[in-house]
Amino acid sequence: MPLPPLRPTDPADDTAPPAAAKRKKAAAGKTPAKPVKTADKLAKLGLTRDIDLVLHLPMRYEDETTLTPIGELLPGETAQTEGVVVDNEIAYRPRRQLVVKLRDADGAELSLRFLNFYGSQVKQMAPGVRLRVRGDVRGGFFGLEMVHPAVRPVDDDTPLPQALTPVYPSTAGVSQAYLRKAIDNALARTPLPEILPERVANDYCKPLDLPPLAQAVRMLHHPSVDADETALIDGTHPAWTRIKFDELLAQQLSLKRAHEERRARSAPSMPRGAGAQTLVARLSAALPFQLTGAQARVVAEIAADLAAPHPMQRLLQGDVGSGKTVVAALAAAQAIDCGYQAAMMAPTEILAEQHARKLRGWLEPLGVTVAWLAGSLKAKEKRAAAEAAASGAAQLVIGTHAIIQDTVEFARLGLVIVDEQHRFGVAQRLALRAKADRAGEGRGAFQPHQLMMSATPIPRTLAMTYYADLDVSTIDELPPGRTPIVTKLISDARREEVIARVRDAALRGRQVYWVCPLIEESETLQLQTAIETYDTLAQALPELRVGLVHGRLPPAEKAAVMDAFSRNEVQLLVATTVIEVGVDVPNASLMVIEHAERFGLAQLHQLRGRVGRGSAASICVLLYSNPLSLTARERLKTMRETTDGFEIARRDLEIRGPGEFLGARQSGAAMLRFANLENDAWLIEPAREAAARLIADYPEVVLQHLARWLGGREQFLKA
Ligand code: ADP
Ligand code: MG
Repeated sequence: MPLPPLRPTDPADDTAPPAAAKRKKAAAGKTPAKPVKTADKLAKLGLTRDIDLVLHLPMRYEDETTLTPIGELLPGETAQTEGVVVDNEIAYRPRRQLVVKLRDADGAELSLRFLNFYGSQVKQMAPGVRLRVRGDVRGGFFGLEMVHPAVRPVDDDTPLPQALTPVYPSTAGVSQAYLRKAIDNALARTPLPEILPERVANDYCKPLDLPPLAQAVRMLHHPSVDADETALIDGTHPAWTRIKFDELLAQQLSLKRAHEERRARSAPSMPRGAGAQTLVARLSAALPFQLTGAQARVVAEIAADLAAPHPMQRLLQGDVGSGKTVVAALAAAQAIDCGYQAAMMAPTEILAEQHARKLRGWLEPLGVTVAWLAGSLKAKEKRAAAEAAASGAAQLVIGTHAIIQDTVEFARLGLVIVDEQHRFGVAQRLALRAKADRAGEGRGAFQPHQLMMSATPIPRTLAMTYYADLDVSTIDELPPGRTPIVTKLISDARREEVIARVRDAALRGRQVYWVCPLIEESETLQLQTAIETYDTLAQALPELRVGLVHGRLPPAEKAAVMDAFSRNEVQLLVATTVIEVGVDVPNASLMVIEHAERFGLAQLHQLRGRVGRGSAASICVLLYSNPLSLTARERLKTMRETTDGFEIARRDLEIRGPGEFLGARQSGAAMLRFANLENDAWLIEPAREAAARLIADYPEVVLQHLARWLGGREQFLKA
């Protein structure tokens, strides 16, 4: 849906640059422009337009409405008091400092100490001057004191503010007073008309008792005397709710627009062919198992998307072991059937390699040419793979993010599959998008369809803010015949018993993973520990063939060890978390994780997902060392109680909060300044509905709202 550009004369255009910037521009032609330093600093805070200043809302409030007499100050509290300077000296012990003594009418005294100070401050606090000070009260060696309080010279009758004083997020060199003034000026110039159509406001703002935006903004910058102070401070005041609603609305609009923009582009239509001779049909027939109901459903959803002439943007969610790979293979086969290429990208070389092995096993016997492309390849091999992609000789290219490097071009790329997409960094996800966008630029060229896969399911409300620009398919069923994994928590003190169990399992023909302790602070130490663990276990279990795999191993050796393990030539695989994602060896039925208390829930769940992939009853032993922190205890308990990825994600969210859970800086949450997904999740649904209404019925309002709230920061949302 094409949206009209924002007209500069639009009455709702409150996006004018601040007056200072305008003046600067006007002057620039004539006299050599004097550097307007503070304006630059404001720009650093993202405050380049009046509307930015108007929406630069307080991060907290200070209560300066009361004075506490010096005699009633208590150490440990933050307070405001007043007195007359009786002494002002620069002391040198223990280091140079300014010490100012205040006395009030009752004769009580308070010392102010400044470790960094200017000459002007010494003058400002000369004896006889009356000061109003605010700061943390401490019981110092010589009685009560404040270190670096906020200080203001006052007269006997300077009135106290009636309402709370806002404190704004700032940066070094921009004082609160300056910000307050700049904001007030901007407020005076900015009418901030209500841009939500009355019908939308009636349906969404009114039931929630939200005030008009202009009123909300004014209340937050200049709280009225009778405003509910607690609600203002903890962010539950209706004025705050209105701001959060508008912000979430902007986020939803932006995500939906990004979605629709991409939808509006062209992609090759790759319908599923009929008959037994299609690659899809032959692959389905050759599979050693039947698709589960859930797999069949998502395969159909994807097949329909691929047939459409617009790029698919689909996220395939499915718990660890739910069988996403075969779904991806069928999607690739559909693209290949239509004469297009498919690319499959995985976050680690181990995982990519495993996909390559698996998909080659399925597809090469059916005559498909598969190329392998990873960073570790020799230059010559890389060039050969890139050439196969460029000529179209390779129908399927599997690899790491080397696939999206600039030197790799595809002849007829129809589908890009990204496995464990949450594992890719923002930069890589953006590079992939950019590559897809570029692919669409050429004459008559198409953008490829995209299928993202993830084993980290996220709760619905969060999905609405994070994946609102994606369609989601979910595999909610595990393949049949899996025996549930039993998880045991065992103290490290009983290590010997665990080793005996490993021997037992291996001698019965089973295979075992032993995951080394995580040492986040040092990769070298991590490596060293892995090698030591390997040595000890190899010594303790001489009758077993033991392998070691870690991140620093050259890729060829890594591949060799993994190969040997998948052929059961290695019975015990000592590994770091490199095996965390996707590794699939069904005969492995015992996993030991050392220092399990150091791992996060999602990571433990992923690791544990390496076992329980075959028909043998599987056990996961979580070795832990005391003392356990409260949250570590929670995590381990959760692991013992459930193997359901959705339930684990829910508890993880509960334990950690959404910011950490999602790696907030990695996503659209970065742009939420006011709404907080923990406390304001209930606002997402109405914001989402309002966004849908605006997009459908009021396209010009969409633009006005986005200009107001985002002003060029939309790109964060697209990562
Ligand atoms: P994940 O969703 O974690 O990527 P995989 O695609 O690696 O899971 O699948 C896990 C295992 O289940 C693999 O060994 C795969 O071959 C097997 N599998 C997938 N689908 C089925 C099915 N419908 N029936 C039986 N086994 C299946
Ligand atoms: Mg997988």
